[in-house]
Amino acid sequence: MMIEVDSSIGEGGGAVLRTALALSAVSQRSIHIFNVRAKRTKPGLQPQHMHGVKALAELTNARVEGLGLHSKELKFEPSTIEGGRYRVDIGTAGSTTLILQILMPAAAFARKPVEVEITGGTDNPLAPPIDFLKNVTLPMLRKMGYQGEAECVRRGHYPRGGGIVRAHIEPAEKLQALKLTEPGKVVRIAGVAHCVRLPSHIATRMAHAASMVLIKAGYSTVDIKAESYEPARDPHLGPGAGIVLWAETERGAILGASSLGGPGKPAEQVGREAAESLARQLDTGCVVDRYLTDQLIPYMALADGSSEITSTELTSHTLTNISLVEQIIGVKFEIEGQLGRPGMIHVGGLGFARRL
Ligand code: ATP
Repeated sequence: MMIEVDSSIGEGGGAVLRTALALSAVSQRSIHIFNVRAKRTKPGLQPQHMHGVKALAELTNARVEGLGLHSKELKFEPSTIEGGRYRVDIGTAGSTTLILQILMPAAAFARKPVEVEITGGTDNPLAPPIDFLKNVTLPMLRKMGYQGEAECVRRGHYPRGGGIVRAHIEPAEKLQALKLTEPGKVVRIAGVAHCVRLPSHIATRMAHAASMVLIKAGYSTVDIKAESYEPARDPHLGPGAGIVLWAETERGAILGASSLGGPGKPAEQVGREAAESLARQLDTGCVVDRYLTDQLIPYMALADGSSEITSTELTSHTLTNISLVEQIIGVKFEIEGQLGRPGMIHVGGLGFARRL
């Protein structure tokens, strides 16, 4: 039977579309999605979403109806998840990491390893920065047996894009549950502050401002790298700048926070924003940051056994993702806590196994 999803639920944004399609692909069940991105000012499929659907269709040998720019209704009928090499050129500064978000669950259950190269933006507003994917999302997913690596070949920023990301995902038979509720002490905070087509002091000032906030907050091991390029050897289309920080704890939790530069925004403010967000989240004593929480929901639902995490903030993205995943694959989550506050999330996973 076809899964029916009204994607105007909750957030009503691109995340509903990505999660719904990713689960349809993994379970090889057809899906009908309507009211796509109904609550956004530019509703329907934008280039980034369209390329995501196309790439997922290729990966899963799917038949798609309604795939066009601004389309608000889609039918997606996936078949076998082959694996192999794929290329996606978004053609705008659209987020490369959000393309990966749509592909990653199905890629883990492919017959062969998946290699994908995506051209677009690597450091976008409202999307995981590439350094967050590399240093927070993927390492946390590895704890669940997800074997994925990502490499940033070249950065891309709004509006010019031109960034290149390569990802490699090995097949997994099953994902393991994640039980991590107490972080223990922070052992180290690391980070990358970058700028492209901008003077190198932008990156060092962001890194310095972030370090000062964290040291003041009582963290002694802070190592933030500054990444910049000499004008003659800068391959980027830029300009652009940003910082990603992550904290590693005694019990193996990794929490991230980030901030992006922009015209007229002082580098110090960018660094401070990311550091203050990380420090605030660490103060909650929870193991998963506000963004990673919504990203982990589908994986926890598919994993074998019962997963339990504490989250620094239950966002509306997380709550929407939970009700969507419940509706599509029939697992039941338990949530303690309220919207906008720290909380605990528990689910008995499906124990989904790879089909050959
Ligand atoms: P729309 O296109 O409809 O505006 P969207 O495609 O931007 O929606 P959202 O629904 O906003 O998608 O989902 C954004 C995703 O990016 C979420 O999974 C969220 O966790 C992640 N994300 C956003 N900002 C960050 C950040 N600063 N760090 C890490 N992840 C982030």
